[in-house]
Amino acid sequence: MAGIYIHIPYCHQKCHYCNFYSSVSKKSKPAFVRSLLKEIELQKAYLHQEIISTIYFGGGTPTQLNTFEIEQIIQHLYQHYNISGKAEITLEANPDDLTQEKIIELSETDINRLSLGIQSFHNTDLEYLNRSHSANQAIEAIKTAQRHQFANLSIDLIYGIPTLSNQAWIDNIQTAIDLGIQHISAYCLTVEAGTALDVFIRKGKMPAIDEEKASQQFEILMDVLYKNNFIHYEISNFCKQGFISQHNSNYWKQQKYLGLGPSAHSYNLVSRQWNVSNITNYIQSVEEKNIVPFEIESLTLIQQYDEYILTGLRTIWGVDEIEILSKYGREMYDYFRKQIELFIQKAWIERQGTIYTLTKQGKYFADGIASELFITSD
Ligand code: SF4
Repeated sequence: MAGIYIHIPYCHQKCHYCNFYSSVSKKSKPAFVRSLLKEIELQKAYLHQEIISTIYFGGGTPTQLNTFEIEQIIQHLYQHYNISGKAEITLEANPDDLTQEKIIELSETDINRLSLGIQSFHNTDLEYLNRSHSANQAIEAIKTAQRHQFANLSIDLIYGIPTLSNQAWIDNIQTAIDLGIQHISAYCLTVEAGTALDVFIRKGKMPAIDEEKASQQFEILMDVLYKNNFIHYEISNFCKQGFISQHNSNYWKQQKYLGLGPSAHSYNLVSRQWNVSNITNYIQSVEEKNIVPFEIESLTLIQQYDEYILTGLRTIWGVDEIEILSKYGREMYDYFRKQIELFIQKAWIERQGTIYTLTKQGKYFADGIASELFITSD
């Protein structure tokens, strides 16, 4: 089983915190769609005819495409790949694009899961983030999608926003629960270098992030969602029983995936490659030369071990010492066993049989723990 990710590189406006590759100019859209259809054919051999269990439209903002364009891409994938009849097909969508008409059109395609970029149900936070929708539009989009047969909805929420009080954060989570959302991805706001947010904070034009408050809000998130029977299956991901994101789980379980479109990443267990992050160069290369412009990095056994630790540790499936021994050898196994002991003593990691997972306390330090278990130092 493998997955396909499609990067749609257009957005209505640029959010202040965003460092994903996207453009607000849509002039190139027709040429981009033509190139994407061509790339679908050019990359056919990458997954070696494996059955595709998930397709994920991300970006950027996939709902900047019209439904005809989305449908064309899906049909082209069916034509050239071995797509499972039960494939999870997710479309990321922004509330301001989701008119009733658009939702009805989308409900007539093979898309069976929507992931909505909500971020907050409070307008002050949306303004701080420079989102292009309002809180009312977010609620309306969710309700309309539910009325039109979308029974698998995920929303993104952000905590740690300086304008977000702990009480407002509780309200956001409770609103999602009351709306009957099946899946919540909740991320701590991070200030990426070079983003508008980074510049505004450094110039003192916007308040900086309070790490202590962000940590309190992570605790609130876990407490409220655990009480409401959400499964915390990855550090940032929570769902009701039966609604784990298959696509993202495949990443964390080290399954192969093919990324299509500018800046999309692909992974086949032994190497990783990424397409050029430039729409014009992408279109020119694919249209004129029939060449997908990408860079590739072969992964050493040590990098594969590090990747396994990084992704596995963040999930409820954890990391398995038997797998470490059999795949990466005695030396890495011994290193892992020595290092992990420290975190077991601190009660940040728990062991069940051969599996190691983060405790609730350990979830606050996931990245730090993983980096102590890595063999490469950078
Ligand atoms: S809509 Fe998403 S991809 Fe586009 S700028 Fe905002 S965060 Fe980035």
